[in-house]
Order: sequence, then structure tokens, then C-alpha cells
Amino acid sequence: MKTDREGRAGKAVFTCKCCGHCCHGESTVSMSPDEQKRIAGYLSLSLGDFLDKFCVRKGRRVEMRVVDGHCIFYGDDGLCTIHPVKPFHCRRWPLHPSILNDSAAWEAIRRDCPGFSEQATYEQVCNLIRETNGTQ
Ligand code: SF4
Ligand code: SF4
Repeated sequence: MKTDREGRAGKAVFTCKCCGHCCHGESTVSMSPDEQKRIAGYLSLSLGDFLDKFCVRKGRRVEMRVVDGHCIFYGDDGLCTIHPVKPFHCRRWPLHPSILNDSAAWEAIRRDCPGFSEQATYEQVCNLIRETNGTQ
């Protein structure tokens, strides 16, 4: 879930509805080592305690645990409990670069995310991805 990237003209194309759909599922996103440390610090935990309590290893990947069908950090109020330090993959979603040059990828993501305006065109979404790249 993302609640901090709908600025300026981008609002006409995408506004997160905070529906929580992207925080649900059988797996979550991976975290870089720096992200793991940052989130552990935010929770006032040692890295080891954070990994034991909140994470699962999948090969080389370290992901957040899934509890009751959603990310362990998905709050009862439908918001992310680690919003200020959530992983890059969460902050970027759903404006994923795979959409660029692949309209089918956008259609697939759009089906799962109600935040896109019904009037939004593929070109507008690509432009928004380019504008926000590296700033999310
Ligand atoms: S699925 Fe889309 S609208 Fe819903 S919380 Fe995630 S980004 Fe926001
Ligand atoms: S870290 Fe937050 S935004 Fe990312 S999946 Fe978990 S609850 Fe959702």
C-alpha cells in the first residue's frame, strides 16, 4: 500500500484508495539489508530479533511474514504500521517499471489495484512512472 506518492498531476492518474489489496496474499516483498536494518531500528529491535519475529527467509530473499493472509505489518486500521520505513517495493507499487513498454503488465496491475483512474491512459501511467522514478 502506498499513501504518499499521489502528487500534482499524478493524482488524476493514480490515487491510492488504501484498500489494502496489495498487502494481502501468500507472500510479501523482499527487503534489502539496509531496509531490514532501518525497519528494525524503527521498531527498536535488534536486527536479529526483527528477523526472527517479523521475517521469513526464502533462499537469499528476506521477506516480511504473512499473518492471516496479509503482511505482518498491515494494521487493523488498514494502514501500514511501518509506513515511514516500508520497503522500496511497497513505496513504488503500483507504478512498477515493468509497465513501461508492456501495456499488458499495466492491465494486469490495474485489475488488482483500484487506485488507477478509469480515464487513465497507458501513456499517462508511463509518464507518471518516469516522473516518479527514483523519487518514491
Ligand atoms: S491495491 Fe492500489 S489502491 Fe489498494 S492499497 Fe494498494 S496501491 Fe493503494
Ligand atoms: S510493509 Fe506495509 S505497505 Fe508493505 S506490504 Fe506490508 S503492510 Fe503493506
